Amino acid sequence: MRKVYLDHSATTPVRPEVVEVMNQYLTNNFGNASSVHSFGREARKGLETAREQIANLIKAQPEEIFFTSGGTEADNMAIIGTAFANQKKGKHIITTQIEHHAVLETCHHLEKLGFEVTYLPVDKNALVSVEKVKEAIRDDTILISMMHANNEVGTIQPVKEVGALAKEKGIVFHVDAVQSFGKLPIDVNEMNIDLLSASSHKIYGPKGIGCLFLRKGTKVEPLMFGGAQERKRRPGTENVPAIVGFGLAAELAGKEMAQENERLTKLRDKLIQGILEKIPHVQLNGHPTQRLANNVNVSFYYVEGESLLLMLDMKGIAASSGSACTSGSLDPSHVLLAMGISHEIAHGSLRMTLGKVNTEEDIDYCLEVLPDIVAKLRSMSPLYNSGKIEN
Ligand SMILES: *Cc1c(COP(=O)(O)O)cnc(C)c1O
Repeated sequence: MRKVYLDHSATTPVRPEVVEVMNQYLTNNFGNASSVHSFGREARKGLETAREQIANLIKAQPEEIFFTSGGTEADNMAIIGTAFANQKKGKHIITTQIEHHAVLETCHHLEKLGFEVTYLPVDKNALVSVEKVKEAIRDDTILISMMHANNEVGTIQPVKEVGALAKEKGIVFHVDAVQSFGKLPIDVNEMNIDLLSASSHKIYGPKGIGCLFLRKGTKVEPLMFGGAQERKRRPGTENVPAIVGFGLAAELAGKEMAQENERLTKLRDKLIQGILEKIPHVQLNGHPTQRLANNVNVSFYYVEGESLLLMLDMKGIAASSGSACTSGSLDPSHVLLAMGISHEIAHGSLRMTLGKVNTEEDIDYCLEVLPDIVAKLRSMSPLYNSGKIEN
């Protein structure tokens, strides 16, 4: 049976070049980067090369890159660290309703500690309005945290405009760029970004490694203590093989970005067009054009997303739904709900995220099996027969 992986926003396979360089640092160059001998110096060299590769991709300085265990930790470090460092100045934070849980739940935690958080709404395409950000700013606002591209519906936010606004008001600006890093051009200076989170396993690097870009002069309290690594901001012996792999993955993503985006956009649009043409009662979620080149998110009315996923899996297609999240709950996605999509329709949503391994044949296969699966599920749906959901 054909196997089609369409869940690249959840994670990606590690590319062979990355495996190769990691292997070298797991075996020959295994030293502790803090050691003064040649083994340590070799590891240190790999670490610093990776820092440069990552800095180059976002036009930062290497000393502004701090390695973390991933995007989640980088988000925590940015938000909690900024809150603690600035609490004498103010306790108000602005974010959006469609952030990743790593941002939302960190903000909820800060609310318990006495901070106040404004969760901005979005429009029907999941776009945040710069005007609304402006209106939410208060004298005690210390941080604006906004994602660059949404992980569920792919909508790309007006980061540059919000960055200019934050700079004008002297507010720290954090961007969760986990879904855009290596996929969209980023210039932290042009975009006035003070803090930026990135993760390796979304760009064909290993899991468990990521980084926080921390602009020189931005005050952030460390969350961990006990070592001088990462200039005391993130102590603990560095995961050199993973860091080296992340660095190479970032460099290669940058080199291939334009070409890969062009290729994926064609595949994405073919998949979207095919679905809209072949299947009735369906809607595209997310911005029609201002979206990631690899993201397709659609809702099939009268269909239950989980059943759809299982049936696709039986046909070898790996995708993700907009309902059950990692917690295994059947709550519809907070992103789809924030976009004003009803519970019923959100429950029938499907996310397919494309990547390097996908070909046009994969898309054809998908368009071949999907209409039958949807029709089969609808034939079993009492809602479909009663026509309870209207368009
Ligand atoms: C995957 C993801 C994260 C979490 O990154 P990890 O490295 O898996 O911890 C954070 N934000 C967004 C937008 C993501 O897509």
